Formats: sequence, C-alpha cells, structure tokens
Amino acid sequence: MTATKRKLAIVTGGGSGIGLAIAGKFVQQGIRVVIAGRNQERLDTAQQQLGELCHAIPCDVTDLAAIPGFVQTVIDRHGPIDILVNNAGTNMKKDFTDVTDEEFQQVILTNLSAVFSMSREVVKHMLLQQNGCIINISSMAAQYGIPKVIAYSASKTAIDGMTRAMAVELSPKGIRVNAIAPGFIYSDMTAKALDSDPERKAKVFARTPMGTMGQPADIGEAAYFLASDAAKFITGVILPVDGGNSIGF
Ligand code: NDP
Repeated sequence: MTATKRKLAIVTGGGSGIGLAIAGKFVQQGIRVVIAGRNQERLDTAQQQLGELCHAIPCDVTDLAAIPGFVQTVIDRHGPIDILVNNAGTNMKKDFTDVTDEEFQQVILTNLSAVFSMSREVVKHMLLQQNGCIINISSMAAQYGIPKVIAYSASKTAIDGMTRAMAVELSPKGIRVNAIAPGFIYSDMTAKALDSDPERKAKVFARTPMGTMGQPADIGEAAYFLASDAAKFITGVILPVDGGNSIGF
C-alpha cells in the first residue's frame, strides 16, 4: 500500500501509556500515526519504537490558540486526517476542599477544553472529506463517583456528554464519534494514583470482576476496532474496557 493511501490518525498523548499503545496498534495495522505531546524526548523515543509509519509533532493541547496551527501542520506534512484519538489527559488527586480554582481549571483545560478545540479543528477538515472517526478517552470516573478526583470526574463526565452531542451532530455528515471508558489500566497515571494508596488499590481489585487491572494494549485493541470498518455502524457509544469494573459489585 502506498503511504498516501494509508489512513492517517492523530493520537494526542501518544508518547506514553494508553496513547502509545493505541498508536502502536494503529501502526501495526498499517495506519500512519501522528503522536502529539509536550515532552519531545518521550515523543522521539516512541517514534523510534513504532517506526516509519509514526511521526512525532510536539503540541501542548492546553495552548488552545496553537491547535489550529498544529492541525494544519499535520495536514501539510501528512495529508487528510481520518482518525482523531483525544487521549492526552491529566489527573489530580486531592481532597475536595484543597483543590484551588486554578487546579480545577487546569484539569478541565487539558481533559475537556482541549478535546473540544482539537476536535473542532479536525472536524472542519473531516467535513470536507465527509468522512472521519473521533475517539475520546473517558474514564470510570464518569461511570460512578470516585473520591478526591473532583476536576477529573467533572472533565470525564463532560467528555461523555460531548461524545454523544458530537455523534448526533456529526454522524449524519459521515463522522463517527465514540468514547472508550478504560477501567484501571497500568500506566504512569495509575501508578501515581494507586501505588501510594493501598486501600484505593484494594477497592479497585475488589470491584473488578475479572480481578485484575488492564494493559494499555487492551485499550489499543478497542480503539482500533472503533476506528475500523468493523465499527462502521457504531457511533455515540461510551465503550467500557474495564474487566467489568463499571458493573462490579
Ligand atoms: P499517562 O500519564 O501515561 O499519559 C498521559 C499522556 O497525555 C502523556 O503522553 C502526556 O504527554 C499527554 N499529555 C498530558 N498533558 C498534555 C498536554 N497538555 N498536551 C499534550 N499532551 C499532554 O496516562 P495514561 O496513559 O494512563 O492516560 C491516557 C488517557 O487515558 C488519559 O486521558 C486518562 O485520563 C485516560 N484514562 C486512563 C486510565 C488508566 O487507568 N490509566 C483510566 C481511565 C482513563 P506529555 O507529558 O509529553 O505532554
């Protein structure tokens, strides 16, 4: 297959954890991937690991004014965008009353406002080709209440609503929009949140019927499915990939 006939995906936060696993699965399936993040060294390492179908373009998604330029750079260098995975995210674990307005805003900016701005800019181009697929990364924090992650919970719950609203508006125009709600997946983020809190970790395992945490690759598989033609009639869903955590007793 020639390079230009291969689909092109953007994966934000594609230099590590879940984003890297999604990018890796896409590349393995012959999809060209642009990984975006702030840490150039991390992006370069990921790019070398994934090979020539992977390209790294630095981007801080919280710099909303720079997003149109980032999307244009992707298109100028690599052509039309077929798939956008809004994976970049941040978490902050603190007691409710200790969270400052600035901290709350920062999480909302990364996990929600940036997802809106990035999607809007990419959709402008997808509308021209009347075709596209957007995958947002949600969380169990949008399925049930988790203490000490107030801003994160607010942001991910809003992602679910935005996914549905985007799906009803954009699906008639050929753009499918879905979300994946990962359960507890081994990554830097969960290490920070759980390793210092054995009680929380025990609770995670206790309410996960499959009795284990997931691997980033489990999310990569689900993202590839949602991006593929196998999911051509699927839009507006929030797909839990969680070992049953969301329905656990
Ligand atoms: P990581 O901390 O490993 O990855 C987060 C990624 O987001 C990094 O690559 C980071 O890159 C990128 N990122 C963060 N802030 C920005 C920014 N301002 N601009 C650009 N990129 C940014 O965590 P995970 O892989 O675990 O998380 C990935 C997604 O999955 C997140 O949305 C998270 O909320 C979600 N999720 C994770 C779960 C889990 O159990 N691990 C469970 C549920 C949801 P860099 O630092 O280079 O900018």
